[in-house]
Amino acid sequence: MGSAGTVLEATGVTKRFAGIVALDDVSLRVDTGERVGLIGPNGAGKTTFFNCVLGLLRPDRGQVLLEGRDISGLPVHARARLGIGRTFQRIELFSESTVREHLLIAERTRRGDGRLWKDLVGRGRPRPDEIARCDEVLGLLGLADLADEPIERLSLGKGRLVEVGRALMTDPKLLLLDEPSSGLDREETAVLARTLQEVQATHGFAILLVEHDVELVSSFTERSYVLDFGCLIAAGPTAEVMASDEVRTAYFGDVEVAS
Ligand code: ATP
Repeated sequence: MGSAGTVLEATGVTKRFAGIVALDDVSLRVDTGERVGLIGPNGAGKTTFFNCVLGLLRPDRGQVLLEGRDISGLPVHARARLGIGRTFQRIELFSESTVREHLLIAERTRRGDGRLWKDLVGRGRPRPDEIARCDEVLGLLGLADLADEPIERLSLGKGRLVEVGRALMTDPKLLLLDEPSSGLDREETAVLARTLQEVQATHGFAILLVEHDVELVSSFTERSYVLDFGCLIAAGPTAEVMASDEVRTAYFGDVEVAS
């Protein structure tokens, strides 16, 4: 069972795909307010693990607990309602809609409001309280000036922040970040990391980060887990994990790791 302060606890998660053991008895914990990395080479099982937490996949064995509650049998939307937020690598909605509209959709999802996003530009005008909540999140993310911009005009870095904003609208207890640095340059990655840290300090949610960018994982996370061929091969403070011979051999090959 999760101890007080534990947001996510996965125990013994095992998932097979037609003969491939994508996850083999993986246990992982994320505590309140923590930033935890999940790293590993291509095909190590990171996405499969994320999907087991999100509810997109059901593990063959093992449990997923959110704040001590077993959510293993719940569908994606129920887990989202209970506080699991996520970002996507690419913005999934319509490029001509504005930054604020993207957040409004998330807000309505959170409230279980049945109106579709299309209603936002037609009949179902956003209420003042909905707009206020959007603008609060946009302000936190430094996006206030871009509220009325169409998504297609934003840089990838800003678009990634909008993705974070959408996730924040659902008031997550746990935010799953799937390679947030993908496609971003160093500066955009640094801005994203800094903004996430600032927002996290205000909101207190926990973060589980899947990421290839070693520099980001090293600077952003306090603890990390390393998967290789579906097995956890290391866990602990990120600096120690990155320095371990086993991890360097399995994951980095002869790549130099920034200290
Ligand atoms: P990457 O860094 O490349 O995204 P990953 O660590 O996320 O890799 P997964 O995508 O979780 O790894 O894949 C783990 C293993 O499970 C791989 O061998 C992959 O081919 C296999 N796998 C994942 N999803 C499926 C599926 N739906 N059907 C069959 N095999 C799958």
